[in-house]
Amino acid sequence: MERKRRHEPDAGVFPRHATHTEIGGPFVRTVQHWIAGKATAGTADRTAPVFNPATGAQQAEVLLGSQADVGAAIAAAGEAFPEWSQTSLTKRAKVLFAFRELVNARAQEIAELITDEHGKVLSDALGEVQRGLEVVEFACGIPQLLKGEYSDQVSAGVDTYSFREPLGVVAGITPFNFPAMVPMWMFPVAIACGNTFVLKPSERDPSASLKLAELWREAGLPDGVFNVVHGDKVAVDTILDSPDVAAVSFVGSTPIARYIHQRGTANGKRVQALGGAKNHAIVLPDADVEFAADHLAAAAFGSAGERCMAISAAVAVGSAADAVVEAVNDRARAVRVGSGRDAASEMGPVVTREAQQRILGLIDAGESQGAKVTVDGRGFAVPGYEDGFFVGPTVLDRVTTEMDVYQQEIFGPVLSVVRSDDVDQAIALVNANPYGNGTAIFTSSGEAARRFQRGVHVGMIGINVPVPVPMAFYSFGGWKDSLFGDKHVHGPEGVSFYTRAKVVTARWPHVSHASDASFHFPTSK
Ligand code: NAD
Repeated sequence: MERKRRHEPDAGVFPRHATHTEIGGPFVRTVQHWIAGKATAGTADRTAPVFNPATGAQQAEVLLGSQADVGAAIAAAGEAFPEWSQTSLTKRAKVLFAFRELVNARAQEIAELITDEHGKVLSDALGEVQRGLEVVEFACGIPQLLKGEYSDQVSAGVDTYSFREPLGVVAGITPFNFPAMVPMWMFPVAIACGNTFVLKPSERDPSASLKLAELWREAGLPDGVFNVVHGDKVAVDTILDSPDVAAVSFVGSTPIARYIHQRGTANGKRVQALGGAKNHAIVLPDADVEFAADHLAAAAFGSAGERCMAISAAVAVGSAADAVVEAVNDRARAVRVGSGRDAASEMGPVVTREAQQRILGLIDAGESQGAKVTVDGRGFAVPGYEDGFFVGPTVLDRVTTEMDVYQQEIFGPVLSVVRSDDVDQAIALVNANPYGNGTAIFTSSGEAARRFQRGVHVGMIGINVPVPVPMAFYSFGGWKDSLFGDKHVHGPEGVSFYTRAKVVTARWPHVSHASDASFHFPTSK
């Protein structure tokens, strides 16, 4: 969208760092970049609309950064790196502690920004801030996490020790569905390790990242260590092609993750690119059906199914099937759908009109390809929010693997029930799927659960836990088309991703000692 820009003097910090721009009449907020410690309008003349999914109305526009804007953010991060990387571990940890306190104190404000732009209910948005905070808390332990190793006397008078150093400027490119948590999977660890960071958040819900930037500044983080540049493919490609960016963390859909990994690694960068998902939950006949149905419904319809760990396919094994479908139908019909700002709502709208139409189209395709729609979320309207992007909870029974609704990542409030004869067939079904993010089993059999956990080709596994997102002190990541690259995010693998090792072999010979230099390869004495 071309924009006529009218700058307000000294737009300041969010919400003050929003300028107000006239787009065909009404004034809307402009979400700016954050470079070198302050909000900036940059050079771009393109913007994208930011909607309130509950009302369907545009509420802001976000700048789409140019190559020059991204270049400015990378340059600011590059200038900040020498000093930040040399800042002592204790000082870095102090800034992280201060940031933790500020995010905790302002969690409600951040959650409100998320709800207004993403659509998820406020309690869920608060939950995402909390899970992001746990990564900050993990990163506060950076002095412990960066401890090296020391081997005394590996040879006569020779010691060997190792330590890890930051990479330089690193970047994060993040999806719309967790506008606070997913960036917080990345930057607390990267910054704690001594790197400087450029974040390119989703253009659909960009405001939370600016609030976090403001809190970093309040916490005492030097200008330029954390930068936010908004944008689309132009901004992303500039990051991927910049010789000054050492590493890229990406979370988003599989086609883009694959592209980011290929282009980033071709340019010599370290890349971790987390992709999409199609998470299965297996329900065995020995499971507690009521317990399983409660958790299946929460995992399928929470956040309107827009979670990479949402359960999209329930695999009902043998005699479990009819009871599971009936119990899940009851839960689906009972979900309270409404505006995320309404405290009574359990599920909000989906993110955009396009997402809504795509999801409705997939339900249509499932029906026409032979699935039975047992709970129908099409034509769903919320009184007072008739223009909102709502899709009601939907259950499709007797889904088979050739159907579009099974093959595609729906990313909406749709649960497909696939029927299977036994646990081994169910495991084979999970393994035949190209994705491998998360999976779960509901059972009272330890033997079946153990067979499942050892047999599935998936990165994160739940046993009677439908959304098995690891805590911050473990690492998060899938297998197969759900992750390109070999390091998962946060936890120990995050520290490893954002640092590289040095191993020193040292001796301090006494001046009177005879030299033992030799032309053969050094061996231990
Ligand atoms: P997306 O892939 O459309 O966008 C992700 C990021 O990539 C955004 O910042 C976007 O601006 C950028 N982008 C989009 N198209 C691009 C292009 N052609 N070239 C370069 N950059 C581009 O994903 P989304 O719709 O924002 O998020 C939903 C997806 O993310 C789902 O597939 C979901 O499963 C996935 N996801 C995965 C995880 C995980 O941990 N594996 C977590 C959250 C979300």
